[in-house]
Amino acid sequence: MAEPDYVYIPEAELEGFVTRIFTASGCTPHEAARISNHLVGANLSGHDSHGVVRVPRYVEWQKAGYVLAGQTVDTITDGGSFVLLDGKFGFGQTVAQQATELGIERALQNGACIVGLRNAGHIGRTGDYAEMATAQGLISIHFVNVAGSVLVAPFGGTERRFSTAPFCVGVPLPQGPVILDFATSFVAEGKVLVASNGGKALPENALITAEGQMSGDPHTLYGDYAPVGPRNAAGGTGAIRAFGDHKGSGLALMCELLAGALTGGGCSGPITERARIANGMLSIYLSPQHFGDEAAFHQAAQGYISWVKSCRAADPEAPILAPGDPEKQRRAKRRITGLPLSRDAWQGILDTAASLGINGPQGI
Ligand code: NAD
Repeated sequence: MAEPDYVYIPEAELEGFVTRIFTASGCTPHEAARISNHLVGANLSGHDSHGVVRVPRYVEWQKAGYVLAGQTVDTITDGGSFVLLDGKFGFGQTVAQQATELGIERALQNGACIVGLRNAGHIGRTGDYAEMATAQGLISIHFVNVAGSVLVAPFGGTERRFSTAPFCVGVPLPQGPVILDFATSFVAEGKVLVASNGGKALPENALITAEGQMSGDPHTLYGDYAPVGPRNAAGGTGAIRAFGDHKGSGLALMCELLAGALTGGGCSGPITERARIANGMLSIYLSPQHFGDEAAFHQAAQGYISWVKSCRAADPEAPILAPGDPEKQRRAKRRITGLPLSRDAWQGILDTAASLGINGPQGI
């Protein structure tokens, strides 16, 4: 496969440009800046699948009324140590931030809080919310599903039954947080999107065709598509595979049950039940300070992580990392190089901007 053709855009320039796009699409400057900061932050962390490549799709969803600007979560149940919130199809970066802020506030007061959020627009990179919690010294655990977006085949299956349902755990430590954050699908759908836009190719066994053949071809998921323009996951007949055989498939099912069925936002399918795609998230916030001896926890955890990382590497060029380390390394690098975007993805964003009367940054 030919090397994808990339443009490199400085972080601040990209963030300003995307903020202008969402301001033009009808968000307040504050909300537009938050959405932009989240998307650019995903690119900075190396998760291009959850970065600005999403801009055309977010703007389309907003135009279609699937996602709404300026929402504030409604409280459905408040038990003090647990809260159930409705995001009312607001931008995920807005309503999931509100839900996370509430969970943090309660856990700092009482030691723990469980927050259910339903009907959130796409919340993006789940690690962003864990990073908010770890920055306040809290452990956080997040089960997420995508109601109405059925893309993933269960272990042994060839038909779609799960969403890409991410799972995330953040642990705060003095030398920096440990953040585990991944989709329970073999690859996040955004990685299929990036590959279809000329970006990094998929592993050959990331997808499965309706006939049960392994595939790395985005057409398996999207069917026919033009080089630049929207992708329709309903267009293909295949599915993304769940990661980790029966174990990843089981974790995906649990994300659907906790983030979808328990919050009331609904599971990923059957698709005919709903037209609107929304994230659900069940989050658990825990304060080590309230729970036990925080200093002893830090010492034991940090010592253990150092020991794990001291393991002899199979490849001397690839030392053992803790979850969250790759993102830290990419942030440091991309702050210097700028953020790489495939030309097709960049053109898609420029086209969306132009449709809103916004010019792209000069000289890129
Ligand atoms: P991924 O496969 O890149 O895995 C990322 C995780 O693995 C991170 O915690 C990272 O630190 C860790 N990791 C990677 N390489 C490592 C190594 N060598 N050693 C130790 N740890 C390592 O992630 P993904 O499945 O592609 O998910 C990407 C993003 O997509 C996530 O942020 C996820 O939350 C997001 N997502 C969101 C939705 C949604 O609906 N909002 C759906 C799916 C995925």
